[in-house]
Amino acid sequence: MSDLAPDLGPKPATAATAAINAAAAELSFLADAADHQRAVRGRVAQPSSPTVVHPGGWEVWNLASYDFLSEPAPAEVNPSLWRQAGLNREAGLFEVAPGFHQVRGLDLANLTVIQGEAGRIVIDPLTSVQTAQAAMALVNEHLGERPVTALIYTHSHVDHFGGVRGVIDEADVVSGKVRVIAPSGFLQAAVSENVVAGNVMSRRATYMYGPLLPKSPRGHVDAGLGKGIPLLADQGLIAPTEEISETGTELLVDGVRIVFQVTPDTEAPSEMNFHFPDHRVLCMAENCTCTLHNLYTPRGAQVRDAMAWSKYLQEAIDLFGEASDVLFASHHWPRWGTDELVGHLARQRDTYRFLHDQTLRLANHGLTSLEIAEELRLPPELEAESSSRGYYGTVNHNAKAVYQRYLGWFDANPAHLHPHPPTEAAARYVDFMGGADAVVAKARVSFDEGDYRWVAEVVNHVVFADPDHLEARLLQADALEQLGYQAESGPWRDFYLTGAQELRHGHPDLGRGSTVGRDTIAAMTTEQLFDLLGVRLNGLAAADRTWAIDVTVTDRGERWRVGIERGAVHAVSAEAATATSAAATVAITADHPTLAALLFGAKTLDELEEAGALAVTGERADLEALAAVVDTFVLGFPIVTP
Ligand SMILES: [Zn+2]
Repeated sequence: MSDLAPDLGPKPATAATAAINAAAAELSFLADAADHQRAVRGRVAQPSSPTVVHPGGWEVWNLASYDFLSEPAPAEVNPSLWRQAGLNREAGLFEVAPGFHQVRGLDLANLTVIQGEAGRIVIDPLTSVQTAQAAMALVNEHLGERPVTALIYTHSHVDHFGGVRGVIDEADVVSGKVRVIAPSGFLQAAVSENVVAGNVMSRRATYMYGPLLPKSPRGHVDAGLGKGIPLLADQGLIAPTEEISETGTELLVDGVRIVFQVTPDTEAPSEMNFHFPDHRVLCMAENCTCTLHNLYTPRGAQVRDAMAWSKYLQEAIDLFGEASDVLFASHHWPRWGTDELVGHLARQRDTYRFLHDQTLRLANHGLTSLEIAEELRLPPELEAESSSRGYYGTVNHNAKAVYQRYLGWFDANPAHLHPHPPTEAAARYVDFMGGADAVVAKARVSFDEGDYRWVAEVVNHVVFADPDHLEARLLQADALEQLGYQAESGPWRDFYLTGAQELRHGHPDLGRGSTVGRDTIAAMTTEQLFDLLGVRLNGLAAADRTWAIDVTVTDRGERWRVGIERGAVHAVSAEAATATSAAATVAITADHPTLAALLFGAKTLDELEEAGALAVTGERADLEALAAVVDTFVLGFPIVTP
């Protein structure tokens, strides 16, 4: 679609959108100044610079690009999201309690530092090395230089570990100078979430977080959870030295007593809250933030357990509530006062439980996912509570998540059991509706009536039937754009506006598939590498032959037998290979990073052999035949067009 005019910029809000956003401006909590007071309370210093610059010269973070948020909400932004966006822009170094400080607004997440006896304990080293370095520089500038003696990961998401190499040196971890503490299952969860589905999740994240959008009142304004994600920054991972597996575990960390609550399968598969009993301070990780969180994250991930999440919040109240004067989390601003923080925990508990229970109540009445999501509303007290608003998750998509967790994608209506895929359905719909031009003409009337959801649904058929129908693409873009302008959720806005942008300008060339860093590869088991091979294998193309490959992983002392039959991979350790395993025809000897480079497709067999990193014995032609049926992914695949 390179013949599309390149200067197709965003459009203003229509009268219908302006009216909807004007009505939203009447929400009672928008006038409440308490969140703003919390967001600025205890500020020790502003960031020394609004930008964080990569050594390569580009900006990975730029707070100044959000200066437009100091203006009143324009018609192109939901006023509730605009308020959240302004609160998330309150950046700098903040005192949370004596000896407890947070750096906020220099990354999607918060970095927290605690005064220890010999140095500092750091909680969550942000998404990237560069933003973490900027945060630590701000800490050291205003609180004095002190060594980091311990680092705690609250959970297994990259915005809470990716910047670790900007905070500590691995040599100090190896030598025992720095303790690294994480919830049980941290490493496995951190690695597995982003590998076998990594490329598609990365592409969908470009819709969810809006990195391809301009930052402007007609573009990206906020992610709901924080401003956004650092761009093209370096990430790493240092494995924990201690894992917490039991609630009630108490550690003395650099002279500071910490009591842990493990909360698996809540906001992350591996997560924990913890309490500082001598300071009456509670860290709620990402389990209790100032938004309705995601039970399903639209970038794509396994659905989370709303029931478990709610019950762990009750447990946190029971364990720590009365013994706390302040609650902080790894996003957003803290809550001060025992009553206030217990109330906050209780409202979050009830929000997730309500969504869970009411979705299932309606499902048991026979309502389907779409029907439940359309009908479900939080009770008035929660709807009037800013921290239960859908800035990140939404009631709508979280209800679908609960349905999916228990009942899956199918609504039991056999008309939906075997529908045509989008392109095939689109051609038939458009034909039945009188052709593309007729559909667009009718849809334009719906657009003028402000019925953008319907336009998006129906014109999508025209776009998928005929992606070169320029008028349809542009009308579809206009409809998605107005939906984005109306959205209270940052990710919904970014999804809509990114879709509109790609309809106008074509989908982007983002190069090869998502890459995985050296640290993540090092944390992968060899079996996970073979799992990835299975996902890259073009099964039908491989189905007419078999492979049996011996793999020796020199640096890990492992030997594997990898079999491929009927287009599917199976891998067992050589010791476990039995008489039922086919005898290997070819063998590979390499270390783990080399094997990873081969299986991720970063290097070819020839290149690795020439470099002397890999040795092949036996039938080399078998490996060449395998390479011919292994796919390579590209990141920028189309989403809003076929
Ligand atoms: Zn996070």
